[in-house]
Amino acid sequence: MIVHVLTLFPEIFQTFISASILKRAIDKGLVQINLINFRDYSHDKHHTVDDSPYGGGAGMVLKPEPIFEAVEAIKQGLNTEEAARLPVILLTPQGRTFNQAVAQELSTHSAMVLICGHYEGFDERIREHLVTDEISIGDYVLTGGEIPAMAVIDAVTRLAPGVLGCEESPLDESHAAGLLEYPQYTRPPEFRGWGVPEILLSGNHALIARWRREQSVKRTMERRPDMLGKVNLTPETGKKRNNVQLTRNCAIIKAEAL
Ligand code: SAM
Repeated sequence: MIVHVLTLFPEIFQTFISASILKRAIDKGLVQINLINFRDYSHDKHHTVDDSPYGGGAGMVLKPEPIFEAVEAIKQGLNTEEAARLPVILLTPQGRTFNQAVAQELSTHSAMVLICGHYEGFDERIREHLVTDEISIGDYVLTGGEIPAMAVIDAVTRLAPGVLGCEESPLDESHAAGLLEYPQYTRPPEFRGWGVPEILLSGNHALIARWRREQSVKRTMERRPDMLGKVNLTPETGKKRNNVQLTRNCAIIKAEAL
């Protein structure tokens, strides 16, 4: 997977791409992060990338020319079909909210472009005629799109085949199947008088799987009941059923938990 990042501050990404799982994925050739300073695509001697807004108002607006040209240069390296399929994503607080489902959707692409804004915003023609998607990482405003881009890169690239050590691990995680993850414990079995649930020490994998499923639903009910309306899982099997069945199962689990 290759992620082209258009930014005025490529240095912000240096530590991010030099550590942990992402570094390992890059070293293995599974992921490539192509940092592009779109200031390099401005043509005047001052390398201008922004200008004041027509109609007046606060702040500076990113000009269309450098961003269009940077994306066009990326597409020149692709064949027509690849260029047409390439997601060109604007990071903006006005976009659709990023979540695990969006991360999964993006992880199916072998390449994408992330455009990081700065200052007041973008010339609207970038929205209208260049980008294919707009993503927000939440209802708050950051100074620039670099942190949102890192959040998207992290969440998406870890879903790419081979990036995580264990291929199974993303499946049980919070949000992957519409539920929060179950509680986790490690050694020691007792710490400051606090033990580990006996069942996890039992070695009975079927019972452990059932316990985890129940805990997952219970935790989701307690912390994020809004998520349960969107999920079709039963605690016993993990197979898809309808929402009525889920509600019944949740009620049983809740009763058992009391
Ligand atoms: N004036 C803009 C608005 O009201 O939509 C906000 C501009 S913000 C100060 C500068 C840049 O940071 C944005 O262009 C965007 O790239 C990025 N940004 C800020 N908050 C964001 C968020 N919640 N999600 C994604 N990108 C964000």
